[in-house]
Amino acid sequence: MEILPKRICEILKDKGVSSILHANSVENSCLFLRNRCLMSRDSIEKLVTQKRPRKANHGASNYSILNDIFTDTVDIHEQANSVHNHGPVLLELDIEIVNNTYTGKVWISKSNPMKWDANTHHERKWFVSAHDLEDNFRYGSFDHMVVFRHCAGKLPILGYLNRIVLDDPRLRTDRYQVDYFSMAFGALKLAMKEGGFDAPIEKRECTQDCSCLDNYKSRNVDPEIMFSL
Ligand SMILES: [Zn+2]
Repeated sequence: MEILPKRICEILKDKGVSSILHANSVENSCLFLRNRCLMSRDSIEKLVTQKRPRKANHGASNYSILNDIFTDTVDIHEQANSVHNHGPVLLELDIEIVNNTYTGKVWISKSNPMKWDANTHHERKWFVSAHDLEDNFRYGSFDHMVVFRHCAGKLPILGYLNRIVLDDPRLRTDRYQVDYFSMAFGALKLAMKEGGFDAPIEKRECTQDCSCLDNYKSRNVDPEIMFSL
């Protein structure tokens, strides 16, 4: 059952959600800013592989969510005290974007899609009614993601970007020994200018308990990939 975006927005605000967050690599984030929209994995693939024939290797069940856009309601890096697996750039969007998705639909996941399989029931995947959302949505849960669906793989964000939070791995690139943070900062600034955005880019401040510097240093999360342009 579909829940009206206006109602979802109200319930999320009541639950303490103030922003819609999307973490990604530097390269993808720049792509989003230049194109003024978040993009689904499928849309990114289409753009990147435009000149190469695409392999039709997605299973049908996965395909439906490959064209959706997944966002968090909580800063996972801050909450988990470790690197966000999707990337060092956090785009912080105004929650009102939920209310203004044009033709798209907004769904809230009840469990993380990584945990889904062919037998997972619809009611276990998604919140199915406003009551369900009111009763069972928990602010801070990594499972409860805001998913922009049926939006043709693109979510316009111009006018909704409040700020960007960027990780600083305190490392330099292998080849040119350039500081990753400065390189990413410059690239994001330029992409914002091209897209017509004017939002601050803030360096992420971590607590002493955060393992992100170790994650980057040990290449558990490879900065060469996450920060590549
Ligand atoms: Zn950290």
